[in-house]
Amino acid sequence: MAQIIDVASKHGIHVVEDAAQAFGAHIAGAVAGSFGEVSCFSMNPMKVFCAYGDAGAVVTDDYQLCQRIKSLRYNGTVNKEDCHEPSLNGRIDTVQAAMMLVELKYLQNKIDRRRKIAECYDKALKDVVICPGRDESYHIYYSYTIVAERRDELKKYLDSNGIETKIQHQILMPFHTAYRHLPRPQIPTAERLVKQILCIPNQEDLTAEEIDYTVTNIREFYGAN
Ligand SMILES: *Cc1c(COP(=O)(O)O)cnc(C)c1O
Repeated sequence: MAQIIDVASKHGIHVVEDAAQAFGAHIAGAVAGSFGEVSCFSMNPMKVFCAYGDAGAVVTDDYQLCQRIKSLRYNGTVNKEDCHEPSLNGRIDTVQAAMMLVELKYLQNKIDRRRKIAECYDKALKDVVICPGRDESYHIYYSYTIVAERRDELKKYLDSNGIETKIQHQILMPFHTAYRHLPRPQIPTAERLVKQILCIPNQEDLTAEEIDYTVTNIREFYGAN
């Protein structure tokens, strides 16, 4: 983010931060969502800090932007009456908001547990696959994504042993049908990694036994036991 902000400020480019899955993460004292002029969080049910249906939030410390976003949230209205510019309805409903206020009390426990599981995986798998980097940032582990040789075979192997994994996401953004007519960007690193990434189970309800089972199966696949 520091580099992005740096380039953007040199060229007068606005930064909208996609902090969608990172609620609770931080780096060098700065929380996710505090970098962009506008930052967006998703609280869809997949996220660590989640609602029980689709939800999300936009944060900014710019007063004018805040007023505009509040208006855009409700059909572009001012005082919820007069429409000043056409927009959609993006209100979060009160029931979801109430559930999330409760959810918030348990968030740190969830994050702690996910970080513990990640630590187990790091220790047990680092000699057979590439584990998510340990750096100075405080990760919340929305996913635990490994970089694996023979990824597709590994995925099949785990699947046949009852371990669900996910490739997030198979199609790189510029290669989606909707964007294919645009000039093809040079993104060799992303193209290489997208063939090797795999999310392995990491959520707060996993038992020690389940974690061991995943580790054992991955190690077995690589003949490393
Ligand atoms: C989940 C996610 C989104 C989409 O959020 P929705 O609330 O489902 O629209 C966008 N970007 C990132 C990085 C995400 O993790």
